[in-house]
Amino acid sequence: MDSNTQQKRDELVARLRKANDIASANAVLSWDQSTYMPPAGASARARQMATLEGLAHEAATDPAIGRLLDELQPYADSLPPDDDDAALVRVARRSYERRTKVPAEFAAAFAGHVAETFSLWAQARPANDFRRVQPALEKTLDMSRQYANFFPGYQHIADPLIDSADYGMSAAQIGPLFEDLRRQLSPLVKAIGQAQQVDDSVLHHRYPEAQQAAFGESLVKALGFDFERGRQDKTHHPFMTKFAWGDVRITTRYNETDLGDGLFSSIHETGHALYELGIDRKYEGTPLDTGTSAGVHESQSRLWENIVGRSAGFWEYYYPKLTAAFPEQTAGTDVETFYKAVNRAQPSLIRTDADEVTYNLHVIIRFGLELDLLEGKLAVADLPEAWHARYVESLGVRAPDDRDGVLQDVHWYGGPIGGVFQGYTLGNIMASQFYAAALKAHPEIPGDIRQGKFSTLHTWLRENIYQHGSKYTANELLERVTGGPLALVPYLEYLRKKYGEIYGL
Ligand SMILES: [Zn+2]
Repeated sequence: MDSNTQQKRDELVARLRKANDIASANAVLSWDQSTYMPPAGASARARQMATLEGLAHEAATDPAIGRLLDELQPYADSLPPDDDDAALVRVARRSYERRTKVPAEFAAAFAGHVAETFSLWAQARPANDFRRVQPALEKTLDMSRQYANFFPGYQHIADPLIDSADYGMSAAQIGPLFEDLRRQLSPLVKAIGQAQQVDDSVLHHRYPEAQQAAFGESLVKALGFDFERGRQDKTHHPFMTKFAWGDVRITTRYNETDLGDGLFSSIHETGHALYELGIDRKYEGTPLDTGTSAGVHESQSRLWENIVGRSAGFWEYYYPKLTAAFPEQTAGTDVETFYKAVNRAQPSLIRTDADEVTYNLHVIIRFGLELDLLEGKLAVADLPEAWHARYVESLGVRAPDDRDGVLQDVHWYGGPIGGVFQGYTLGNIMASQFYAAALKAHPEIPGDIRQGKFSTLHTWLRENIYQHGSKYTANELLERVTGGPLALVPYLEYLRKKYGEIYGL
């Protein structure tokens, strides 16, 4: 690289870091809003965050970035695709183009509309009053379509929305895959429903919050979360956020009569955090310094939460520790019963409470509704009934109201319609593929987990997935790591084997 190119590259990185700094400062405000901010801080905080969002947008769409990207393109083209600078220019251009294709006035109007819709939803949900939020949701649908049309040339109108969360994925790839998954899951759900049910009463004794927090923290640490580079705090809806290489935050919540709530949300967010903490420091503050897609991110949270944290081997090691911490609550429950309790499967109404088997059916329903809404096949006015009909069809349950129906998830009321749900199920599918690849490289991993040793798996994930940040797309990563594309087989095999054993199918 000549000195002129070097100078341009450094200037590009400096400008990208500046945009990232503003966004990270906003992330601190957002984290505080969800953890420690007193209620009376809300209105000023919303304004402060909007101000920073505007500055971050300005910095990220500065025409100087576009010029530098153009000037650096010949240099990037001269490099092999997996070179860091080639990846930097490629990924920075992708996000620059995505942000600049959407007019600033539209982005601001959409953000304002979403904020209003969110407060309407916050009233409509407890009041079980979909009609209150219906006109706003109609406008959201309209604006989601407008957003998609800033990216002409798509195959399906949902594609630009899917692409912004799961780059490189499309309705044509996901639709048939989800349909196949739904068809193959249905008999398993049915068989579980007809089998002897699992007793999970051990999870619902009284577990004092302080003791849950102490147990959870030691667990999170053992899994590899570095408290020198992060913190864990309490919130209503757990999430992970990153401010810098050395500062990744996780949040959790505790329910004193549901041990699984805090335990598994802590492990879930730890999975997200291990991904971000594992990204190579040389990418810090650039567009490469983040997980590559919603689906891959969710694959990591789900891998740790379910494949590790809900495995028999994991509890072989941890159950004695749990019984030492909670002797009264666990008295008379053996490890096998406890293992079954944390894996209880049952068709239910609420996505976030769903087990591993039925969870995807919740996601597939939402994904299908999004496509139908965007295509104009389904009107917003008919959405509540369509929701119920699909629950009856897929899960055999019907919510008594819209509160636990179409109003249950914040996503459509806090963002666009389209592209916001598929990542959850893509993550489940990919988690099994990645884990199968890890086992192939290190067949000793299950034995290690049984002894409380997580470093073999963690190191493999860091070397093969985490360190690369956004350098490779989800599809490229799957090819590199598993030797093939997105595939259902490992996931279905995992579910059939695990739940076949638990339910004696
Ligand atoms: Zn997650």
